[in-house]
Amino acid sequence: MSTTEDTAQVAEPTVRPVLAAAVELARAAVVELGQGPVGPHLGVHAEPDPDGAAATHRFAAELAGYRGWEWAVVVAAAPDATAATVSEVVALPGADALVSPTWLPWEERVRAGDLGPGDLLPPPVDDPRLVPGYLASDDPAVEEVALEVGLGRRRVMSRDGRLDAAERWFEGTSGPAADVAVAATLPCGTCGFYLPLAGSLRAAFGVCGNELAADGRVVHTEYGCGAHSDTVVADGAATPVTELVRDDSQLDLVEPAAAPQPAEPDQAAELDQAAEPDQAAELDQPAELDEAAEPDEAVPVE
Ligand code: SF4
Repeated sequence: MSTTEDTAQVAEPTVRPVLAAAVELARAAVVELGQGPVGPHLGVHAEPDPDGAAATHRFAAELAGYRGWEWAVVVAAAPDATAATVSEVVALPGADALVSPTWLPWEERVRAGDLGPGDLLPPPVDDPRLVPGYLASDDPAVEEVALEVGLGRRRVMSRDGRLDAAERWFEGTSGPAADVAVAATLPCGTCGFYLPLAGSLRAAFGVCGNELAADGRVVHTEYGCGAHSDTVVADGAATPVTELVRDDSQLDLVEPAAAPQPAEPDQAAELDQAAEPDQAAELDQPAELDEAAEPDEAVPVE
């Protein structure tokens, strides 16, 4: 049993001699374009034609800015012809050519975050994230309730769409594994600022209404932050207590210095006796001032 690969090998068309010999004819066709020098001949291969009437010669294209490109010259000859003619000349990227990425339709290129102010981004016709919504009834009471619970719109999110959204939110920056949530002690599910979503997503997601936290973002019920409504900070001085502590168990008791007392006459005399002559002279100044006084009178010594 033959495989597709075997068939391709067997079916490889051969180039007729008249076409294989048309190398210079093909080169002249490229030169005639006036696009610059033409590189060496790279080969020839037959085109898939049942009569073998066409083949393509390839030449290196020495064009500025087209590294790795080749000139492809298609030559043709009728089954009974003895000379070939040029059918087409075109530059094509070779195996090593520098080419742009494979083209993608714009709707496949758009990524999250690309949508800017004023941009329009209609969903694809068969968007799997959307399914037809229920039609509004003629009963105003029913319509009011239907709109409140999400009915009455032309299309609503499909189950797949909601599961995709839930997965993104769970794994995103407002999910339970986010750094802020891991460090928090209380979860959003118990927070007064937590506004649960409607519908099936209500079980796990809500919107944070705290302008100082994740305001307006969808948060997981196990997400959390330090601005939880039950957050309590212990009262007390902001200054570390250790800076205010005074250790009074190790006091150094120091006797205050005694104030000098006026000397008694006897004590003054004793001091005069012990004093050096100069010091005694200073102490005897009152006696000197009293020039009439006798030394015995100035210094009563018993
Ligand atoms: S304030 Fe914090 S804990 Fe409360 S809902 Fe917002 S993010 Fe969650």
